[in-house]
Amino acid sequence: MVRDVSELINIMGIPFNNLSKQDLIDNITASDTGKNFIVTANPEIVMEARNNLAYKNSITKSDYIIADGIGIIIASKLLKQPLSERIPGYELMMTMIEYASKNQKSCYFLGASEEVNQAAVRKLKEKFPELIIAGHHHGFFKLDDESIVNDVRKTQPDFVFVALGMPRQEQWIANNIDSFSKGVFMGVGGSFDVVAGEVQRAPEIWIKLNLEWLYRLIKQPSRFKRILKVFEFIFRMIIRKY
Ligand code: UDP
Repeated sequence: MVRDVSELINIMGIPFNNLSKQDLIDNITASDTGKNFIVTANPEIVMEARNNLAYKNSITKSDYIIADGIGIIIASKLLKQPLSERIPGYELMMTMIEYASKNQKSCYFLGASEEVNQAAVRKLKEKFPELIIAGHHHGFFKLDDESIVNDVRKTQPDFVFVALGMPRQEQWIANNIDSFSKGVFMGVGGSFDVVAGEVQRAPEIWIKLNLEWLYRLIKQPSRFKRILKVFEFIFRMIIRKY
């Protein structure tokens, strides 16, 4: 893949694109290949890549790696190469869906439970009546299941949102992107759960104060182990032991 020319900032071996959400959208929509793989990376993803070379190879196959998570912004400041803005994956997905609906572009929704997947598609259709749904499928399948790849290939979506959680979603995209002729592919984690109303996003004030991670931890204490990884990430950045 050809990495975009915008400034790259290396954080623990992961090359982040330093660009705003609008610049990213403009680049993608102007792309003449029509094919883009976007990783919205948070500290958990960077730590996973540090410990799992196959995963690192998957995410560095992407066209764009953007900062999703205040931990990444803090790290870039510690490196004295500040990234201009945090781009939450959920917001990027919603902006792309809005763009798709206004421009007769089709979307495929892959991931989450059958129930959440269907509810998310239904809610999006209500919010964006013009939205073209190329297809959708739940996310509980074997990574090498060819029938899913065939369905996406057959329906030729312009945008493919993959909500399988990290690391599966980026692995699925990296493994299969060469078999598609076009499309913007992006891992979106728990975003379908938010769209379906199963999980609430943090209130605006928590987001503004960069405390969305704390809100999620309070709501889902089972995420505690994952938060420890975030602290390890920040600690390593402070002591410069990558
Ligand atoms: N999921 C899936 N298939 C799997 C494992 C997870 O479709 O094999 C879905 C899960 O139902 C949820 C999403 O992937 O909708 C992962 O959400 P999580 O909150 O873990 O993602 P994050 O945003 O934290 O990366």
